[in-house]
Amino acid sequence: MEIKLFINNQFRNSSENIIRTSFDPSNGLEVAKYHVPSIADIDDAVVAAQNAFANPTWKDMTQNDRADLLLKISEKIKERSKEIVDIEVRDSGSTLRKAKADVHNTSAFFKVMSKVARELKLSIQDESASRAGFSINSREYSPIGVCAQIIPWNFPLVMAGWKIGPILATGCTTILKTAEETPASASILAEIIKEAGVPEGVVNIITGGADVGKALLNHAQIKKVAFTGSTLVGKDILKTTAPNVSNATMELGGKSANIILDDADLSIAVDGALYAFLYHSGQACDSGTRLLIQEGIYENFMNEFLKRIKEVKVAPTNDPNAGYGPVVSEKQLNVIMSYIELTKKEEAKLVSGGSRLTEGEFAKGFFIEPTAFEISPKHTIFHEEIFGPVVGITKFKTDEDALELANNSKYGLAGAVWSTNSTRAHKIAHGLEAGTIWINEYHLLNPGMPFGGFKQSGIGREMGPEGIMSYLEVKHVWESDCNDRAKKVWLDAIF
Ligand code: NAD
Repeated sequence: MEIKLFINNQFRNSSENIIRTSFDPSNGLEVAKYHVPSIADIDDAVVAAQNAFANPTWKDMTQNDRADLLLKISEKIKERSKEIVDIEVRDSGSTLRKAKADVHNTSAFFKVMSKVARELKLSIQDESASRAGFSINSREYSPIGVCAQIIPWNFPLVMAGWKIGPILATGCTTILKTAEETPASASILAEIIKEAGVPEGVVNIITGGADVGKALLNHAQIKKVAFTGSTLVGKDILKTTAPNVSNATMELGGKSANIILDDADLSIAVDGALYAFLYHSGQACDSGTRLLIQEGIYENFMNEFLKRIKEVKVAPTNDPNAGYGPVVSEKQLNVIMSYIELTKKEEAKLVSGGSRLTEGEFAKGFFIEPTAFEISPKHTIFHEEIFGPVVGITKFKTDEDALELANNSKYGLAGAVWSTNSTRAHKIAHGLEAGTIWINEYHLLNPGMPFGGFKQSGIGREMGPEGIMSYLEVKHVWESDCNDRAKKVWLDAIF
């Protein structure tokens, strides 16, 4: 597969002929050659997005027409799902089951965005703020403008969808930069966007590393940056964009607490806890990587947990029964293994796994055993995001202790509580400092509800009305309802 730059609805070569290769993390085989933009190419993409934003074909398009485009994209993703699943599995190390879910969910997301676009009210008179004989006050919403959107490698298609959907629903334009590890599925999405009839320049897609991201963000025309990635890079991006006072949505890292109360249904909670930290080899931002278990059930829980962890099948992603596959790259593997070694050195008790898998079918890929340590807040991995199949387990006494442990983090992306007592669970949910809390559930998201982080897990929200509003500027329009000069006493202030 050859992946070109997608600028102005054209698939173009890198003008400086910078071409790199992406590899299948299961076996090291080549997946694609991708073109990396030069500075001049990035400039072209920004100009394309700027022209598209001013182009009446896009600017004045009705919300119904935008909604129709989104629906077409949703349908075309469904039509090409087999092809996208195949490339996503090889490019990103997603299992077949994960890739199928990602493609299905992305198609569904564009359908939801279509409904959002159709129902979006861009001018709303506010009755409660208005006063008869004095003022008629209304809010008018308009698209924020040219956006730069930067995504990570863990959910390449889903992330591209989450970013592009609101662009099309609100009338913005974008330059989306995918991660170098996983450029492939967004390239098929580019073809679909063009085929669906999205006007040229509205969506531009490029791939590259930090240098490409920085060069893109340096443009003063960028009115909003929407970034998903690590907290470290998020901080750097805020610095890069500060001189232009760009709006920002930051979806950053996490170290989410998964709390098992002593009245939890263990027949579900054990599997829930494994799913929370092992899904996609633990490479999900909302992973439940701090497992907090109440002392009364600790032994029972751990017995079942250590039995079930052995039943999770680690395998190359072409195995349809793989529970999880490789981590995305050798670099990521080394990061994870160094955290595992550090935790051993810090004398945490290793209760499962702890090694790289290298024999037989694992020989050419980046596979790590499901790994569990018993830890306390003195251990580094209680606080730092690893982004791999590693969990830290901590015993607690009271519900208050659980909350104190859970909130002892610079992150606040997500969390969960497992209990058969809804009132008790909601009390914990209320006390948790995080943007998404599940009760007796994990990882599931709803496009109608906001997703994002407290504290250093981010700024702003994606999805839900909150996510859409972040792509709109709001204007207050004040119309006088008083046409009698004598009553306009405030004018007398200067006479
Ligand atoms: P990363 O921060 O290293 O990179 C993310 C993206 O930013 C990539 O496209 C990368 O090329 C680009 N980038 C890197 N440095 C840059 C710079 N200085 N300026 C501009 N762009 C730059 O993250 P990653 O390793 O790709 O992904 C893993 C991280 O993403 C984890 O921390 C994870 O928690 C986070 N994540 C968060 C969410 C969320 O919704 N909160 C979702 C998925 C992943």
